[in-house]
Amino acid sequence: MQNNLSDTIAAIATPPGYGGIGIVRISGPDAFAIVLPLLRRPGGETALPPSHMLTYGHIVAPDTQEILDETLVAFMRAPHTYTREDVVEIQGHGGPLILQRIARLALARGARMANPGEFTLRAFLNGRLDLAQAEAVMDLISSQTEVGQRLAMQQLRGRISEQVQHARHSLLGVIARIEASIDFPEEDVPTPQAAELSPSILEAQRQVDRLLAGAGQGRLYRQGLRTAIIGRPNVGKSSLLNALLRSERAIVTPIAGTTRDTVEEVANLRGIPLHLIDTAGIMPTSDPVEQIGVERSRAAAESADLILLVVDGSEPLTAQDHRVSEELWAMGFGGEGEIRRRDDGQSDPPAVALQDMARRPVILIVNKSDCRQLVEVAQLRQTWPGAPLIHTSMLTNAGIAELEEHIANLVLAGKTLQSESALITSTRHQESLRRASDHIRASLLPLREGLPLDFVSIDLRAAYDALGEVTGETASEDLLERIFHEFCIGK
Ligand code: GDP
Repeated sequence: MQNNLSDTIAAIATPPGYGGIGIVRISGPDAFAIVLPLLRRPGGETALPPSHMLTYGHIVAPDTQEILDETLVAFMRAPHTYTREDVVEIQGHGGPLILQRIARLALARGARMANPGEFTLRAFLNGRLDLAQAEAVMDLISSQTEVGQRLAMQQLRGRISEQVQHARHSLLGVIARIEASIDFPEEDVPTPQAAELSPSILEAQRQVDRLLAGAGQGRLYRQGLRTAIIGRPNVGKSSLLNALLRSERAIVTPIAGTTRDTVEEVANLRGIPLHLIDTAGIMPTSDPVEQIGVERSRAAAESADLILLVVDGSEPLTAQDHRVSEELWAMGFGGEGEIRRRDDGQSDPPAVALQDMARRPVILIVNKSDCRQLVEVAQLRQTWPGAPLIHTSMLTNAGIAELEEHIANLVLAGKTLQSESALITSTRHQESLRRASDHIRASLLPLREGLPLDFVSIDLRAAYDALGEVTGETASEDLLERIFHEFCIGK
């Protein structure tokens, strides 16, 4: 990874495609020197314009004098910029070719093409954002519900970092006292007593555990729930998708097998992004095109957190229905419809990662309840004991609210979502915090038993470092690379 801050980077910062405006962003020590000669202003003005103001002018190719675009350009002097470096943003017309040509001019004048996330990486390396805040930038951009957006914004404003730093501070105080007494025994630094040390350790533990307690829910808000809609053709899968989305995006037709591919859409279920995958069905077919769809559906089902298994209530169960059930069972679905609580004694709201369940849950949907019902409900219940069964009609919308209720209950295990207490949304943060919590707990044991204080400080150090991974103080080069690589170019 390029962690070299001495060069100047450039990239198109707006998404690819055609738009009203597009922005080329340049950051680094030579940003002004690179752009200034490209900008032809009225009256032939050449002095550096005032910082953080828009300057009107044309971008002109220096060698041919060709006018490429009419622009507004912001020259922003360090350190009050996104990267804390000198930054120039050229607002041109939003055509990919125009923007590429402007970017190329900057590259020709000595800028280097920015890597994904490199502007934000620089903001991190220059100390403007810590790592949790830098990650929040990405979350904010990709958030899919208002709740997710609110959580990302909290993180960007430093709420996680604040609490993590507070816990680190408590630990550091204890570590310092222990290490002073070990390093300078002859200099009359008294050996601290357990009773003096434990309040700060316990305070740190409380803080870390409080963050961890909301993490399961937080992750759910951010990552959502992968939900596959499965069933034989024509039972109403696409109609169900539409009902949940309350829109008409998937094609609904009365011909069996029209949804040949998988369709993925995101519905907002009380702030949780529900990634709905409408599948072509997972039964064997000789049609090669349908076969591709079937393979994709199977993959979608395999990776799902939750299955909505749809049958047609107006017909008796068919061999195909049974085969779908068998396949799903073989894939490991058929949970009791309850979240198994992780019994680690520390997460009060239960861990909600549905993948943690012994068997992932299935909700049975008996559709077309507006028609005369011929389906053998008892047989279905026998095949899927414990799975919730809901009668729906996509014509009248009957049962949809009940279905949503069921999904929410399943996910929350009866608890209401509290976005206020769900600060932690990232698995990475959750893992670091869990490690920190384990080490803090482990440090208390030797303290209670009166063992030498080295035993205590080893774990406290490890906890301190684990917390530092959240904010980035102790993040490895590898980790940074992994995180920033997920960003888009130009961010
Ligand atoms: P898919 O192949 O499983 O995706 O099924 P579709 O959603 O394409 O629906 C197949 C047919 O059943 C369409 O003609 C729908 O209008 C009809 N349909 C879907 N849901 C219902 C329902 O609840 N009641 C009735 N009467 N027809 C439905």
